[in-house]
Amino acid sequence: MAAQEIGKVVADWLGQFERALSAADESRLEALFHTDSHWRDVLALTWRIDTLSGREAVVAGLTAHAAKARPVDLAIDPNRTPPRRVTRAGTETIEAIFSFETANGRGSGVVRLTSDANGKGGPKAWTLFTALEEIKGAEEQVGRSRRHGESYSRDFRGPNWLDLRKAAADYVDRDPAVLVVGGGQAGLSIAARLGQLQVDTLIVDRGARVGDNWRKRYHALTLHNQVQVNHLPYMPFPPTWPTYIPKDKLAGWFESYVESLELNYWTDTEFEGGAYDEGEGRWTVVLRRADGTRREMHPHHVVMATGVSGIPNIPDIPGLRDFAGKVLHSSQYDDGEAWRAKKALVIGTGNSGHDIAQDLQSSGAEVTLVQRSPTLIVNVEPSAQLPYALYDEGPSLEDCDLITAATPLALARKSHVRFTEQARNMDRSLLDGLARKGFRLDFGEDGTGWQFKYLTRGGGYYFNVGCSDLIVDGKIRLAQFADIERFTASGAKLRSGEALSADLVVLATGYKGQEHLVRKLFGEAVARRLGPIWGFGDGQELRNMFVQTPQPGLWFIAGSLAQCRIYSKYLGLQIKACELGMLPQGKEKHAPGKLPAAREFISG
Ligand SMILES: Cc1cc2nc3c(=O)[nH]c(=O)nc-3n(C[C@H](O)[C@H](O)[C@H](O)COP(=O)(O)OP(=O)(O)OC[C@H]3O[C@@H](n4cnc5c(N)ncnc54)[C@H](O)[C@@H]3O)c2cc1C
Repeated sequence: MAAQEIGKVVADWLGQFERALSAADESRLEALFHTDSHWRDVLALTWRIDTLSGREAVVAGLTAHAAKARPVDLAIDPNRTPPRRVTRAGTETIEAIFSFETANGRGSGVVRLTSDANGKGGPKAWTLFTALEEIKGAEEQVGRSRRHGESYSRDFRGPNWLDLRKAAADYVDRDPAVLVVGGGQAGLSIAARLGQLQVDTLIVDRGARVGDNWRKRYHALTLHNQVQVNHLPYMPFPPTWPTYIPKDKLAGWFESYVESLELNYWTDTEFEGGAYDEGEGRWTVVLRRADGTRREMHPHHVVMATGVSGIPNIPDIPGLRDFAGKVLHSSQYDDGEAWRAKKALVIGTGNSGHDIAQDLQSSGAEVTLVQRSPTLIVNVEPSAQLPYALYDEGPSLEDCDLITAATPLALARKSHVRFTEQARNMDRSLLDGLARKGFRLDFGEDGTGWQFKYLTRGGGYYFNVGCSDLIVDGKIRLAQFADIERFTASGAKLRSGEALSADLVVLATGYKGQEHLVRKLFGEAVARRLGPIWGFGDGQELRNMFVQTPQPGLWFIAGSLAQCRIYSKYLGLQIKACELGMLPQGKEKHAPGKLPAAREFISG
């Protein structure tokens, strides 16, 4: 089909869809969707992030919400990637980006059309995505709508830009509307978005310097994803940057980002906890500054951007207390210099365990990596980059992000099964070598690979940057945790009677879930009200992430740089809507869409 013809097919579908939707005509709507179709809405029609699956649920949801949201003017967006034929999750489809308006705002959508199996009628929707781009009357101050700067321009007697910046960031006689806890990529992204929406926002971080969350990680670290996937909102990395960004370069960029985007950021500041006053609609929070003084504040919103990996998980390992050498959690490990010619046991075979083992080995230590459970191994290049091929296809970053968000869970799972299978074939010789050494391999639940391990449990995989090869070559020894009877003063005693002597034990045993941090900072009642944070449970969206939670005024953002870039936009819009009184906090009862039986929906 030629481009023009594809455009016509899409325009026809959009026209029919809009007419059926405004007439709330369920049977005409049903004729436009496949039986196994999905609709993901991000705020545009529902003020929620949710996915409905199956034609009946999709049509019922659309008619219920369209009555209030009133979507109109659905049209192919001439400023974005034109409709085109693509293959998604192994299925050929027409993919089109469209724009629309609702009562509250302007939105963007993505529809994927495939032919009807019986060849009758025009193509039908396989997936539909609708997302809010901006709230009418509260548009971002970017491009042509940028601030003029008249408050400080060429005023020879009044405060200049710097004076105003300092006053804004000092919060001497006011409190912010939003307090962001944590100034990593999650905190920076949401603060940047809120800044553009003119919501007074302060980031606090316990680190002494912006970027310390990366700077203080181990010496050899460079990012795992390629540079084009990792941009922060508004300020892309320079095109001169290397494919894989070194940690200190990213840390430095974070400092420039705070400066350039005029983010209010208090370093050396620990968030000690808070309590919410429902009547007042605000928090009382306590911040401890570097000099030990405390500041009480009353923001309307607290955004937790403390990382999916908050509190170190230190397992109870028999006899470890008797060990006379040094014990470190992976979060305390810096580099291997001090361990040259010494013996180290690294417990845990996720990214941190492997990276630390490799760092120690290259520093001249004798290293044994101890495996606790089966682990997914994927070569960092090219295999681990397969899911990001979209970002090399040509569409702009903005379009790639929209297309990524337009992928419902069932489709994402199916895509990742394919990527995992491909990666497994590409990495065959490495994986066979590891298996020969007794390494227990794993490919994720139902073969969905590393990304779903990340999204469901935040770990359990390693992007091989050389450590797996060292294991295959016998330069790093491998032991199974189940074979350790107990620790002694000199190291580990194996059930076989063999002893693994050690000077250092590194516990690369991961972190506790965010629920633990919430309990510590906000108390048991709030933790119970929220339930699990991150992971899908039996739903189709990450739990409590980027959306209103059952605790009014408490929000969560975390994840990869790409996730933070994409979802900070939607989180920012919700907070802005709350501030405008458009989105009542905590009042709405909502039953999230469930993931249908995998078999039923795994076929395109
Ligand atoms: C080797 C390696 C490579 C990686 N490569 C990539 C990649 O290419 N792309 C990618 O997207 N991700 C990558 N990651 C993952 C990435 O590290 C994490 O996703 C990222 O750090 C999460 O950012 P965050 O802002 O959510 O949390 P963090 O970076 O953990 O920041 C949380 C911040 O919260 C602060 N904080 C916590 N509690 C408090 C408190 N009570 N008071 C005040 N401050 C507090 C901390 O000081 C910290 O600065 C990589 C990770 C590793 C180890």
